[in-house]
Amino acid sequence: MTRATKIVATLGPASSEPAVLERLLRAGVDVVRLNFSHGKAQDHIDRATMVREVAARVGKPVALMADLQGPKIRVGKFAEGKVMLEPGATFVLDAARTEPGDIGGVGLDYKELPRDVRPGDTLLLNDGLIKLTVDMVRGDQVVTKVVLGGELSNNKGINKAGGGLTAPALTAKDMEDIKTAMSFQAEFVAVSFPKSATDMEMARQLANVAGESTRHKPAMIAKIERSEAIPVLEQILKASDGIMVARGDLAVEVGNAAVPALQKRMIRMAREMDKVVITATQMMESMILAPVPTRAEVSDVANAVLDGTDAVMLSAETAAGKFPVETVEQMHVIALEAERAEDVSIETDFTNKRFARIDQSIAMGALFTAHHLGCKAIIALTESGSTALWMSRHNIKVPIYALTSQPSSERRMTLYRNVRPILMPKMNDRDAALEKAEAVLVERGVLRPGDTYAITCGEPMGYPGGTNMLKVCQVR
Ligand code: PGA
Ligand code: MN
Repeated sequence: MTRATKIVATLGPASSEPAVLERLLRAGVDVVRLNFSHGKAQDHIDRATMVREVAARVGKPVALMADLQGPKIRVGKFAEGKVMLEPGATFVLDAARTEPGDIGGVGLDYKELPRDVRPGDTLLLNDGLIKLTVDMVRGDQVVTKVVLGGELSNNKGINKAGGGLTAPALTAKDMEDIKTAMSFQAEFVAVSFPKSATDMEMARQLANVAGESTRHKPAMIAKIERSEAIPVLEQILKASDGIMVARGDLAVEVGNAAVPALQKRMIRMAREMDKVVITATQMMESMILAPVPTRAEVSDVANAVLDGTDAVMLSAETAAGKFPVETVEQMHVIALEAERAEDVSIETDFTNKRFARIDQSIAMGALFTAHHLGCKAIIALTESGSTALWMSRHNIKVPIYALTSQPSSERRMTLYRNVRPILMPKMNDRDAALEKAEAVLVERGVLRPGDTYAITCGEPMGYPGGTNMLKVCQVR
């Protein structure tokens, strides 16, 4: 059985050797994430080249996701690399400080912080492990009291509980990084900390301009990790191709306890709006150090699958962990098992759904037919991949094989739940294409004599958005 839910894995020191990457891809990674919070442009270019080469060697489509750093607010460096903060102590965050930090305070890369906070505000450092309350703001200095102490080391992130930091979503560095990502035609660009649809529109425009020479247009993923993004989720979704439930920063801003319900809401909304969704952060966190996950992590991954996520994501587990390959192997098994338990609710889905487009109607017709006839497969002959995307917004047990002549569509579809993209030569003759499609799936062992399948295509062939035919066939 093949897995419907996709796996996104972050590259880092633990996974930048071609041999390790090859094992990761073979273990089931579908999308490789390049984290632009670390490393130089050339590092990402080198890694992207390596991913393309190894994917070709392994013989499977793999997409690249460029994850922009965004305006992550960080403390500066310490003279000793770190300090130990004690509860009750005074600690000064100083935008004007140039000398290294010490036990009394530290510099800031975000110079606006003193203007964004008021006495009484709560600041969370190092993913919420350290908690400070603001006593007063004195010029460039934010004077705080330590509530929850602990070790604070160089360049740790700062969040404000409840949100309200004014930093724009796209920094000058992000704009440069978008150009870098377009130089290797990243299929996905993930935007960190967007607060509005405008942030996403701006990022998309920058990416499209940077990709113009190769006519590459990446899919734009909004990382939902700010309080302000929640009330405008629908608008952000409309302006994006997908979202990431970025639970790390989100949890710090809205509180850990609010995240599970938000995750479910975000996944449901994304799917209803025909967008993709990735569930991210600390999914298999303990496997950074241990060869097996905790039972809570197993449940977390399984629940994301049951919520209907397109993909589950690994961060430090594969970037810097001791067991990157084992983590992917375990995630694969957990997802498969959860998918088996899932119930199919396609009838009720359908009565609520409205569609006006011909291609979308055909996609839905194929889904309904394949589900009720018990087809072995759905085959979508698709140029842009949109037919496969629509089909994949409903959970059915019938796998969707998306055959396309566009390598960029093939790679983009690696993220879509229950879609298996396959590259096929461009064909103009419809009957020849239908025959070829069946032959490809028979050759792969998906279809056998006697099996029924539903196939969709457009006539004339080869136009994006041109799907207008559904045929139900039996393999002879
Ligand atoms: P990050 O984003 O890992 O880039 O911070 C994901 C998250 O915040 O969950
Ligand atoms: Mn984040």
